[in-house]
Amino acid sequence: MIKVCKFGGTSMADGLTMRRVAEIVESDPARRFVVVSAPGKRFGGDTKITDLLYETYEDVAACRDTGPAFEKVCDRFRGIVRELGLPMDIEAVLQETRAAILREDTPDFCASRGEYLAGRIMAELLKVPFIDARDTIKFGADGRLDSERTYSLLAAALKGKRRAVVSGFYGEGKDGKVKTFSRGGSDVSGAIVARAAGADLYENWTDVSGFLACDPRIVENPAHIRALSYKELRELSYMGANVLHSESIFPVREADIPIRIKNTFRPEDEGTEIVPTSRYTFGGRVVTGIAGKKNFDVIYLDKSLMNAEIGFTYRVLSVLYKHGVSFEHIPTGIDTMSFVIDAVELKNGVLEEICREIEEAVHPDNLRVIRDIALIAVVGHGMTRSVGTSARLFAAIARAGVNVRMIDQGSSELNIIVGVDNENYERTLRAVYEEFFM
Ligand code: ADP
Ligand code: ASP
Ligand code: MG
Repeated sequence: MIKVCKFGGTSMADGLTMRRVAEIVESDPARRFVVVSAPGKRFGGDTKITDLLYETYEDVAACRDTGPAFEKVCDRFRGIVRELGLPMDIEAVLQETRAAILREDTPDFCASRGEYLAGRIMAELLKVPFIDARDTIKFGADGRLDSERTYSLLAAALKGKRRAVVSGFYGEGKDGKVKTFSRGGSDVSGAIVARAAGADLYENWTDVSGFLACDPRIVENPAHIRALSYKELRELSYMGANVLHSESIFPVREADIPIRIKNTFRPEDEGTEIVPTSRYTFGGRVVTGIAGKKNFDVIYLDKSLMNAEIGFTYRVLSVLYKHGVSFEHIPTGIDTMSFVIDAVELKNGVLEEICREIEEAVHPDNLRVIRDIALIAVVGHGMTRSVGTSARLFAAIARAGVNVRMIDQGSSELNIIVGVDNENYERTLRAVYEEFFM
């Protein structure tokens, strides 16, 4: 039995929590390979090491030197090594790291040092080898994971080791430079290591006792989800349930490796199991979970006989493609079409430019932009089996006095997505949760 364990930022926050991590790993001989995040927040209002490192890079870019944020990073790591009483020359490691940050001079390299340093310390604490993700996780020229090289390099590095620590969040690009995943990406690293190790289980250790039916920062004490399918996980995490990075399922899915979410601070809790969709059994519930995200813009188009106009969608999408803008959803009607886009992609005049080019490309009867929209996704395989789910959903939203601005029932039949004004996000989420879970 081989388990790969990934520990998130709160589990790595200080010496005390790192000691807990070591106890968890050592309590089970199957826990062979450990993937770590950079130290996260120790308390509300604290700053994650990764955020301090992005700040450090801004200082390097502006002044050709590391500034106060990097001093804070050094102090955190010094404190951790002191708390753990490790015989490690942390000063020398930090000096080396500072020189490397100035030499390599990229934001990704700088940000990756949190995981690198955390990994070295954890390896020292467990007295096992450290595997640098730079040497083993490789990206291709297109920026995507080079699976073939990665799995063969990682498998070779893990082979014959009783235990090892691998740094999360980054790898090396085709250009030889360090490249990170998007934020929260150590979850993806963990999945890659699980795949390379041929693991029987990928344990993802965090600060909650599993996947909850709704964001616990918005709904008080939401229901616990015992099991979830890969597909449900993908929908929920993509739509904002950031317990697990939405791309973490791909490496494990190919090899049918289940994931278990566990709580570092309550290891006895059962957590949540995420299983291949084919092994998913219907437990009688209609909705598995609810997730959401704020800050989208919707470009709404209408034109009579749009459906009969060959190439209409193609021409609109070409405009988005030209600007390198990706969309989240395209709800359509016979003569209407909306493009839901993350507002971050439309800043600095991009939205205005795109609208002008769409007008030119397809001459719609109407083009409107609806700004500041929040999306809420109601997800569950059970919805296909139960009549009236959308009626319940919309009745609940209406009772909360919220106007629905957009509806998209995904063709996966696994989710219904509604758009509401940003300001109504929390209220809607609570109302929908109450309808399906209370
Ligand atoms: P880590 O640092 O361990 O990777 P994250 O902060 O990335 O942890 O993810 C865990 C957090 O995700 C929880 O503390 C919780 O606030 C938040 N969260 C959001 N939605 C959910 C959900 N549906 N279930 C559980 N946690 C959720
Ligand atoms: N440390 C990185 C972040 O804060 C990656 C991770 O924690 O997964 O995004
Ligand atoms: Mg995370």
